Amino acid sequence: SHIKDVQFVKSSARARDCPKDNRPEFAVLGRSNVGKSSLINSLVRKKEIALTSKKPGKTQLINHFLVNKSWYLVDLPGYGFAKAPEAAKTDWSSFTKGYFLNKSTLVAVLLLIDASVPPQKIDLDCANWLGRNNIPITFVFTKCDKMKVAKGKRPDENIRDFQELIRQNYKQHPPWIMTSSATGMGRDELLLHMSQLRNY
Ligand code: GDP
Repeated sequence: SHIKDVQFVKSSARARDCPKDNRPEFAVLGRSNVGKSSLINSLVRKKEIALTSKKPGKTQLINHFLVNKSWYLVDLPGYGFAKAPEAAKTDWSSFTKGYFLNKSTLVAVLLLIDASVPPQKIDLDCANWLGRNNIPITFVFTKCDKMKVAKGKRPDENIRDFQELIRQNYKQHPPWIMTSSATGMGRDELLLHMSQLRNY
């Protein structure tokens, strides 16, 4: 399950511009600031490989990375910029939904959820949309190293609350993994999980 080699392939502005070969893909998705760049960098053990433009209003791109010359790690634009204009939000959903609905090579979406905060509506909406469309998903909870903040809940309590809230939209509960890019928690488990899904 190890990553020996990663190559940046291309940035695509539209779903139809994405690479069209038959290699399996894992798409990484999450709210802006969820820790997506940190997680991708920690998975591939390279600094600064996740080049996604992070500024609201800037062109959002789908970035394809080829791993071990055999499968793609796909960095999707983050959603939920607090300051994004309404138009940019609409753009995000039509474009990203286009990607999901036309991808026969998609093995799973890794949906990143920040475990250091209570369940957020935008994440629940996204998880529910994916569930209703039968898109295979793995929940990757991020920032699990964060200790309980004043009055807040612990990561495991936030995770339990989140799972409870999405339950009715899934026939089977999706797999989920607790991670931290700060400590490396969950990294090997996630890589192993992805290799098992590829070999089904
Ligand atoms: P992105 O916008 O989703 O790509 O998020 P980034 O990877 O840039 O991370 C957003 C912020 O969260 C940064 O300040 C990171 O240092 C912090 N962060 C990311 N991952 C972790 C983590 O595992 N633990 C902690 N404590 N902080 C993290």
